[in-house]
Amino acid sequence: MEMAKVACVLYDDPVDGYPTAYARDGLPTLERYPGGQTLPTPKAIDFEPGALLGSVSGELGLRKFLEGQGHTLVVTSDKDGPDSVFERELVDAEIVISQPFWPAYLTAERIVKAARLKLAITAGIGSDHVDLQAAIDRGITVAEVTYCNSISVSEHVVMMILSLARNYIPSYQWVVKGGWNVADCVARSYDIEGMDIGTVGAGRIGTAVLRRLKPFDVKLHYTDRHRLPDEVAKELGVTFHQTAAEMVPVCDVVTINAPLHPETENLFNEAMIGKMKRGAYLVNTARGKICNRDAVARALESGQLAGYAGDVWFPQPAPKDHPWRSMPHHGMTPHISGSSLSAQARYAAGTREILECWFEGRPIREEYLIVSGGKLAGAGAHSYSAGDATRGSEEAAHFKT
Ligand code: NDP
Repeated sequence: MEMAKVACVLYDDPVDGYPTAYARDGLPTLERYPGGQTLPTPKAIDFEPGALLGSVSGELGLRKFLEGQGHTLVVTSDKDGPDSVFERELVDAEIVISQPFWPAYLTAERIVKAARLKLAITAGIGSDHVDLQAAIDRGITVAEVTYCNSISVSEHVVMMILSLARNYIPSYQWVVKGGWNVADCVARSYDIEGMDIGTVGAGRIGTAVLRRLKPFDVKLHYTDRHRLPDEVAKELGVTFHQTAAEMVPVCDVVTINAPLHPETENLFNEAMIGKMKRGAYLVNTARGKICNRDAVARALESGQLAGYAGDVWFPQPAPKDHPWRSMPHHGMTPHISGSSLSAQARYAAGTREILECWFEGRPIREEYLIVSGGKLAGAGAHSYSAGDATRGSEEAAHFKT
């Protein structure tokens, strides 16, 4: 077997250093994902589920496995700009592993430089940080760990919808400031009961969001390229709309759960936000570029949107002066919803499974494939369109300056 060089880009360790203890012991055991797909099935793992695996020192638990087989593993968080470690290491790497939270952008220019690159693995879900068109043209395989953090994200979405509507974050801040300002807190606080809530995309995350919101006695809506199975639509009592433009005017809350690809890039621009109800909430944990940065900030200033929350930005990390850090009535987090310790255990195991298949010449699961054999494949063929959504990612280098 030929030895491979693996370049892995991960986010930095905590500022106080890599943890030596955790808030909880272990993780609950899950049997299957909803719908029956099996969890990752590597032959073995070399990490403790519940450990921090997604940061540089966590190494996705891969070092022993890779070096044990004679491969080379380089792990870095230094990913942006021509002088970055990643750009240097890319030149002779066969495999690149990256997480969407701290994406190693694989633009067309970088793919040209990465002459030996054959496999790009997303340790997570969403491979828009790879120029898929360039990967298709070069015959590079792109794989992600489908389902690994879909439920994690759906929990975050529900949290954010409730946080915005109930005005949680400012209320928390009054307590920290030593206040007891009930009126200040409640002057923007509403129940979601009875509201119309719609999702753009009813795939794994979107459907899980609908399921979790149903007990709140809200009216559910969705738009998607494919219809939900009849029995699911019936169980949820969810109304289908052909397009986002047709759905948003009836919604008090819109949540975006579709991948970023040429069809969804800039979908929530000034015109789309203008079709929403005045005072609607918009929650986007899908990808930053699906929403127009300045249109969102303006809509919060004008009151067209009552709140915006999410955890995805463009580029990532977001520059220090990104308007979403300072706009009013937002509930943004850095990109974390899919990187809970629970999710990390699954995507580290899934990454290991993909690597085992690759090195042993076994097929990678269809559901993990985005691009294979020079075309969109597997999950990619179902949910993506070909093209490039990485344009502008160079700007991520500005985070450092
Ligand atoms: P799925 O593939 O299960 O679902 C995506 C859904 O979006 C599919 O049903 C797809 O339609 C639909 N879709 C695609 N294009 C459109 C469109 N133009 N209009 C409406 N719907 C569309 O993926 P997940 O639910 O697991 O994840 C969705 C996305 O969420 C990921 O691609 C990723 O970008 C993001 N994500 C974010 C994370 C985070 O940490 N914040 C973590 C995980 C994912 P169909 O397949 O029917 O064609």
